[in-house]
Amino acid sequence: MDNRTIVIMLNLTLLITAVFTVMATTKKEDPGHRDWRISSICAFTGFLLLSLQSYVSIFISIIISNYLILMSSFFQILSASEIEYGKKRISLYYALISSCAYMTGFLYFTYGQFNTPARIIIISVMLAANFTYGALLLTEHKSSPVSRLRTRNKSLFALFAVSAVFYTARVLFTYRESMGLTSLYQKNLTTSFSFIYHMTYQISFTLGMFWASLHGKTVKLTMEKEKLRNLFSFLNSTAPYLDLKELYPKIKEILKDTMHIDAGGIFLSDGTGSNYTMVYTLHDTTESQPLSFKAGTGVTGKAIEINDIVETDINNYPESALSEQFKKHGVKHIAAVPIRASGNILGAITIIYTSHEKTSFMDKEFFTYLGEQMGIVMQNALLHHQVKSNANTDPLTGLLNRRRMIEIMVEEEKIYKRYTDSFCIAIADLDFFKSVNDTYGHDCGDRLLMSVSEIFRKCSRDTDYISRWGGEEFLFLFTRTDLAGAVEILTRIKNGVKSAECKCTENNFKSTVSFGVTQYIKDEKIEKTITRADRALYSAKENGRDSIVSL
Ligand code: GH3
Ligand code: MG
Ligand code: MG
Repeated sequence: MDNRTIVIMLNLTLLITAVFTVMATTKKEDPGHRDWRISSICAFTGFLLLSLQSYVSIFISIIISNYLILMSSFFQILSASEIEYGKKRISLYYALISSCAYMTGFLYFTYGQFNTPARIIIISVMLAANFTYGALLLTEHKSSPVSRLRTRNKSLFALFAVSAVFYTARVLFTYRESMGLTSLYQKNLTTSFSFIYHMTYQISFTLGMFWASLHGKTVKLTMEKEKLRNLFSFLNSTAPYLDLKELYPKIKEILKDTMHIDAGGIFLSDGTGSNYTMVYTLHDTTESQPLSFKAGTGVTGKAIEINDIVETDINNYPESALSEQFKKHGVKHIAAVPIRASGNILGAITIIYTSHEKTSFMDKEFFTYLGEQMGIVMQNALLHHQVKSNANTDPLTGLLNRRRMIEIMVEEEKIYKRYTDSFCIAIADLDFFKSVNDTYGHDCGDRLLMSVSEIFRKCSRDTDYISRWGGEEFLFLFTRTDLAGAVEILTRIKNGVKSAECKCTENNFKSTVSFGVTQYIKDEKIEKTITRADRALYSAKENGRDSIVSL
């Protein structure tokens, strides 16, 4: 086969690969595809110009064609890196260094009368640059936390290995072309091999890129699938948790597993619509301050204000007391999404990374979806919480209702069976309450019930239970308290009510309360204890009211 046929075959091959590449790279927005297309067009026009050297000025044809072939090689590297990783910066440095080296060497051997050692030096520099670039990509991704990228890395490295072998071949051919450039169409075995090498190289690159691009798409699809699976499993694993206390740790667990967060917080509206308070911390340390802020401030506030995800590097975070705190704790990256449900913003979820490495797990789209899913499960939990508390509380006073109090007494009875500390039961009844209604009206009577309930709450302990037992009667349960202890608390309550003034319309009036209190006796029925407390209350009324009687 003479060289003319081989040159025609080479040009045809390059034309076919260029057409194939243009057709295969339909995604215009993908920079990898764009560069791949440029590289194939450059290769085709470069070799076409080279083969036309008998018809145009040989000098122009060689210079322009070589530069087109060089550009093709750079764009090949750019596209290979972008399709797989998007490491544009490394590619640009590489392109710059190689371009300078190539240009210097090219000018040198063009004007230095086709000096063969110069060609070898310049091609060796290109080879070294290519290897360095491949090694950079390899080491860069060895340390990547995303294991999936390692498999993709192998395919790209294989591509570079092929390219390196071809470059080596080019060095050897150049060495054999000791006579410099002769006419392309002369029967010359070295030139034939050189063309066949270019043909094979172009085909192998096109196939390699096509495979890498397909593989990239598959990986992308797999990642999308995994994202969907994670979202589904989030809903699946959180839906059964209607209690917020159980739901929060579950959300934390999922955020740690899927997004590998280091810290963060769940913020909920305090009901005013502009203030948000941290209801749960996503870090493992117990040390945390209660945080609250207004919509529009900080990353979390901004996410709520614009109703969208907000993400920032700590270096771009505006200087503030909070940014100082963040820097002190080694925060590197912060992101927040609003928690939305049925068009309302319930709050926001903020995540924090303390290492730049981990931010590769920060997937904006996934985090936004997660915010939406959280909105659904949290709204359910909040509604459930509301329904539950409505079922347990008295609407007028906000105290426990009779039904819930009976449940608590039964539970307390069981606890007492296991432990030795007893509990006390007290019943309170407002004195002459009927006359308040009769004198000031029913609304003022209601107001008095509310204000004494508030005093009951303030004067008792967190561990005590207070219920509206019925009408103007209240039942107290003092856990792990003996009779003397209960009387002490009741005295505080009694004095609190006596000294307080109830304001209703233009009337200010005072009120007193009578109490009957008793201690639960082991193994007796709780009804018996209540009856005893009732009897004590009766005695307190008999004694002239505003008093405490214990039985
Ligand atoms: P005593 O000192 O003997 O307890 O006198 P009293 O007037 O408080 O006695 P009584 O038990 O006869 O009156 C209770 C009144 O409480 C009767 C009822 O109209 C009123 N009452 C019960 N529930 C409510 C309520 O929800 N709101 C208002 N305003 N009044 C209520
Ligand atoms: Mg009464
Ligand atoms: Mg009364």
